[in-house]
Amino acid sequence: MSLLDVKNLQVAYGGIQAVKGIDFHIDQGELVTLIGANGAGKTTTLKTLVGMVKKASGSIQFDGKDAASIHSHDFVRHGLAMVPEGRGIFPKLTVEENLLMGAYARNDTAQIQDELVRIYDLFPRLKERCRQLAGTLSGGEQQMVAMGRAMLSKPKLLLLDEPSMGLAPIIVQKIFEIIQMVAAEGVTMLLVEQNARLALEVSQRGYVMESGKITLGGDARALLDDERVRNAYLGE
Ligand code: ATP
Repeated sequence: MSLLDVKNLQVAYGGIQAVKGIDFHIDQGELVTLIGANGAGKTTTLKTLVGMVKKASGSIQFDGKDAASIHSHDFVRHGLAMVPEGRGIFPKLTVEENLLMGAYARNDTAQIQDELVRIYDLFPRLKERCRQLAGTLSGGEQQMVAMGRAMLSKPKLLLLDEPSMGLAPIIVQKIFEIIQMVAAEGVTMLLVEQNARLALEVSQRGYVMESGKITLGGDARALLDDERVRNAYLGE
């Protein structure tokens, strides 16, 4: 059984159909990417997975449960964490306070402290700046905070929406290295990205979304070699 199993998902905003009946799945331990042009429905799909947007029809099974039975404020407790587009950090809180917000639903204090240490090992930059106000961090550092915070919720599935958005190429490389490090820790991830090449290079599988539909899916290597992907998303 897949960790996440989405069937015939449809989502509409008023009369506009943003997601038009998509099927996809993510297995335990996989890093899967969803690529597609602006407005294809990628963010809407992620928001629907965490209950921020209501589906019109279809089914979402997460960890053996119907996601519709989970209250929107309870997704983190059920193991679904999202790093939203724009990171969603709290600018007036310190780096460490932001990180610990990820653990709000937990009460295993000693373990949280151990994991905080591990996150500082993963992101030494954040350790140096643990008392700095998060709003004064660079975009790349804020992305690290957002990812570290999500990891502290101990997610079964981590959803990343456009982590490379607005970052300089050298920082984008760094963020993708971090994504690979997080994957190596065994965290299952769904990555939404405009940067199709990098996303496919770090993922095991991928899906291509166009105008609310999934038009291609499969092994990430095969998608990198697919002529349609190369022409439309890899600038070749
Ligand atoms: P991007 O990469 O630009 O973020 P996306 O693939 O994530 O694109 P979505 O943000 O999911 O695309 O948008 C899908 C469609 O739904 C778009 O046509 C968009 O205009 C529309 N849409 C998104 N949010 C809303 C909203 N709150 N109300 C009405 N329409 C919306």
